[in-house]
Amino acid sequence: MKIDFREAKSIITRSNIPSIDYVINPYIGCQHGCIYCYAEFMIRFTNHKGDKWGQFLDIKTFDFDKIKPERYKGKRILLSSVTDPYLPLERKYQNTRKILEKLVGTQAEISILTKSKLVVRDIDLFKKFENIDVGISINTLNDDFARIIERSASKPSERLEAIKKVSEAGIQTYVFISPFFPEITDFKAIIEEAVDYSHEFSFENLNFRPHNVPRIMKIIKEYYPGLLLKYKEIQKDKSYWDILEDEIRNHCENKKIKYEIEFHHGGFSKS
Ligand code: SF4
Repeated sequence: MKIDFREAKSIITRSNIPSIDYVINPYIGCQHGCIYCYAEFMIRFTNHKGDKWGQFLDIKTFDFDKIKPERYKGKRILLSSVTDPYLPLERKYQNTRKILEKLVGTQAEISILTKSKLVVRDIDLFKKFENIDVGISINTLNDDFARIIERSASKPSERLEAIKKVSEAGIQTYVFISPFFPEITDFKAIIEEAVDYSHEFSFENLNFRPHNVPRIMKIIKEYYPGLLLKYKEIQKDKSYWDILEDEIRNHCENKKIKYEIEFHHGGFSKS
């Protein structure tokens, strides 16, 4: 892992993600190195040409005293969109914690999204916010498969345990089932596991992008060879997602679960 420091002009930046006003990305790059990551385009914008996504991390340096919590009243701020706020190196550099400390008192709605059990470290801070929700993204309950597709993220079982602890501390939590791997992601089982400590479930489909298709197909061929043909079909025929959307909607409505479906075919990704 190539580690560097990068002075940031700003740390809370305007967002073009629907329903998100600002994003905070405390790091450039992401140690988790998920095979399906949509944030890899950041290589082009951050002078990392020639580097591999998941193998570099820039620690943003910034005068955190410049953060003015009152500036964001009524706005929705997401941590994070193109990195994970609780990467392994957050333990050491604590950028996320430093930023949250400066935001205490804000009347913004803060939304945390992570794949890391480290999130429990900041429960004390979360309690100081008026309007905060803390979520995990997860797409399988299989710890072994997750290790293959999300190399350095916490195991799904650890993420679920973490979100449970956050919820038990009285903080609103949610589960982002993302990205949905056709015929692999068992969304009903994930809901079943987390329903007692998640106030909402949201769903995002797997996007096939030119940069990630070879990696996804390689994994499917190796671990789920019987699904290879299906994945090739879904790449061309998007109707799979429409049918799945109906299935999710029916299930959540029957179970009276709050849900949001964020299926799109080429748009943004939260994390
Ligand atoms: S999908 Fe999210 S957690 Fe995974 S590498 Fe990309 S930014 Fe990091």
